[in-house]
Amino acid sequence: MQTASELKLTGHALTPGAQRSWWLREALASEDAAPCPPLTGNATADVVIVGGGFTGLWTAYFLKELRPELGVVVLEQDICGGGPSGRNGGFASGWWDELHGLVHLYGADAAVRACREISNSITGIGQFCDRHGVDAWFRRSGYVFAATGPRHELVCEHMVRAAADAGAPEEMRALTREEVRARCASPAFRSGVFMQDGASVQPATLARGLRRVVLEMGVTIHEGTKVIRLNAGPEAVTDRGTVRAGHAVLAVNAWATAWPQLARRVAAWSTYIVLSAPAPEKLAAIGWTGGELISDLRQSLRYFRTTRDGRIAFGGGGGRAAPRIGDSFTHDTRAVREAAEGFRLFFPSWSEVPIEDAWGGPIDVSPTHLPTFGTLEPGNVHYALGYTGNGVAPSHLAGRVLADLAVGANSDLVRLPMVNARSRLFPPEPLRSLGAAMVRRAIIAYDTAEERGRRPNPLASAVAHLPRRLGYLLGP
Ligand SMILES: Cc1cc2nc3c(=O)[nH]c(=O)nc-3n(C[C@H](O)[C@H](O)[C@H](O)COP(=O)(O)OP(=O)(O)OC[C@H]3O[C@@H](n4cnc5c(N)ncnc54)[C@H](O)[C@@H]3O)c2cc1C
Repeated sequence: MQTASELKLTGHALTPGAQRSWWLREALASEDAAPCPPLTGNATADVVIVGGGFTGLWTAYFLKELRPELGVVVLEQDICGGGPSGRNGGFASGWWDELHGLVHLYGADAAVRACREISNSITGIGQFCDRHGVDAWFRRSGYVFAATGPRHELVCEHMVRAAADAGAPEEMRALTREEVRARCASPAFRSGVFMQDGASVQPATLARGLRRVVLEMGVTIHEGTKVIRLNAGPEAVTDRGTVRAGHAVLAVNAWATAWPQLARRVAAWSTYIVLSAPAPEKLAAIGWTGGELISDLRQSLRYFRTTRDGRIAFGGGGGRAAPRIGDSFTHDTRAVREAAEGFRLFFPSWSEVPIEDAWGGPIDVSPTHLPTFGTLEPGNVHYALGYTGNGVAPSHLAGRVLADLAVGANSDLVRLPMVNARSRLFPPEPLRSLGAAMVRRAIIAYDTAEERGRRPNPLASAVAHLPRRLGYLLGP
């Protein structure tokens, strides 16, 4: 592994976790918002929402749109957008690349219906920004999947065929090597696929904009308020008070690993992003001026996009799994170097441009690589989780579904196939965490060997393939 100085990591890139993400620092610097004080004492509400990320805030937004008279309270342990919603890559991307898994789980018609709803959610995010004056850099420029190895070219062919077989050939278009490089001239790129369903956002501005809008709609938010447990009722219990409500929504993402009701539905993996210094002239030189979202096709996915001031934000390629959300999700300098190595590999013409920032966070990996939304017994606690690193657009859909579930609406949305889907569970602890940690590193080793044209180590290969052998839709 290369050293921090070889990778030209500077400034905040050397101290991941010591400061908030670059996105969130930008968003907070440009807003003039009063704090939402912690809960003190006991309160009542129609709906109490645990978690002030996209899922919780979209749910609050759609609840107030449906029923303005409802009393809605959001409890957030940090500040709204302090979690992954304010630090992700800002890829609001479609599900057409997930068609294979969706069809396997739910059948072709339901899979296409789900993909169309995600498209509607991408449109909905843009409309929300327009309607409420939220400048979250929403730009619908599409998504390029760039193959970086021979096996990835086959994956591209399968993705294009899956869309055509599902009757949506326009959604996934094959790109030749020349077409990929015309959009972004990395020497690492081979052929690829263009998915038109993809928009980039400044995620923290979106999260903070949502916070402003729901407050204006009359939602009560308590930041700095950690929910310790949910009693029957439901009643959200904190160490300084409780909120008793008709319905509760658990919108806690990877923190679900600590909630007994949800723990076996997710495993928590980390992913990190590095951010270059601005170099708009270098972006122009490689022709990447169209704002496309781009990723490779590793299982330990690398994803990258540009910023308004001409930087590259480059995520993924490393990270680890852990049983509880702690420092390894935010302070991991090895994971930063792994992301930086990917950036240096794909963008050699940027070798003199320093990497100025880096941050990480947890993703909630589900057994199917796809989220589920639903209601727990006895019927008044609702949840959404399992985004597996693709939650920006799906959390908007989750908000629409959860609001409908909480008000008891008999809508098309609550009949989507992932609502109350009974998916396979991960094994109980300690097997879940041990297995997740081993599989995560084996997948990275497998991907890296393949990328370097080497045969993956047989043990790493066997462990990387284990989830599929056990019936999970994860890994190569
Ligand atoms: C580095 C990184 C890059 C990513 N890139 C992308 C991307 O480009 N595109 C994409 O689609 N997805 C991406 N994701 C995933 C995406 O960020 C998430 O799927 C999405 O933000 C989920 O929203 P959420 O509201 O469910 O979760 P979160 O934003 O995590 O919100 C959950 C909130 O619950 C709070 N909470 C947890 N437990 C409690 C408790 N007990 N009491 C009170 N509050 C609690 C947390 O503090 C947190 O703020 C990325 C994730 C990471 C970490």
